[in-house]
Amino acid sequence: MELYNSLIKESKALFENAPVKTWDYAPGDCWKDLGASELVLQKDAAYEMGASGKGSANYVLFTSGPELVNRDQVLLYGPDLKDIRGEVDFARIVLLRVGVLDDDDENVYRTLKDIEFAKYHVYPEGYMVRMSPESYREQVRVSKIALRQGISFRSVGASYIAEYKKNPNVLNATVIFATAPGLDYAQMQKLAKKATAVTGTLTHILEGLPTDCSVCALKDVCDEVEGMKELHFGVGDKSEKH
Ligand code: SF4
Repeated sequence: MELYNSLIKESKALFENAPVKTWDYAPGDCWKDLGASELVLQKDAAYEMGASGKGSANYVLFTSGPELVNRDQVLLYGPDLKDIRGEVDFARIVLLRVGVLDDDDENVYRTLKDIEFAKYHVYPEGYMVRMSPESYREQVRVSKIALRQGISFRSVGASYIAEYKKNPNVLNATVIFATAPGLDYAQMQKLAKKATAVTGTLTHILEGLPTDCSVCALKDVCDEVEGMKELHFGVGDKSEKH
């Protein structure tokens, strides 16, 4: 399945020529996980990333193409946690290579949803995440104690990768963090919105939406996303046969 491939390419293009730090995933790098959400009070926080008034984006993209995602890696564009002073822009983009995408369509959708929910199971100590799915933003408050203990994007990224890789369908996970000023966070938010539209359309298709594009409210998404119509008509054929 290649539905998200153009979004992956557009996302990568946003970082072209930007300085990057890269770490290969090692399970031993994971930051301590609390297993439940933690309240980091403002008085205990060193700073917030992606707060209102700052750029912020969060999304996950899937592919089956090893040419697009082939490593378990953390990428950082901008200052690391220990070097941040005051409020900064913030984005977290996850690229996943998933094996099941070539499988049965209903399985695909369920698997994608299960994998997406993995992000709600990562609770790094001293790193309080607030997601806003309606606006595709993510805001993070980092505690002073965690900074003293050495928290970094390498360790937090490893925690996310470990969680995604618990699902055997995830073959590779690349986690991109961005904190640099001047990156196109507004465009990242637009890509996040498109990714949600693709997943939403996929849901409707797999729920058995009639195959009549001329009256379909999702036509805009399908006109834009390569492979969506083929997927729907493929599903339609199958249900007719049964
Ligand atoms: S393929 Fe046509 S009918 Fe199916 S969701 Fe897309 S626009 Fe609607």
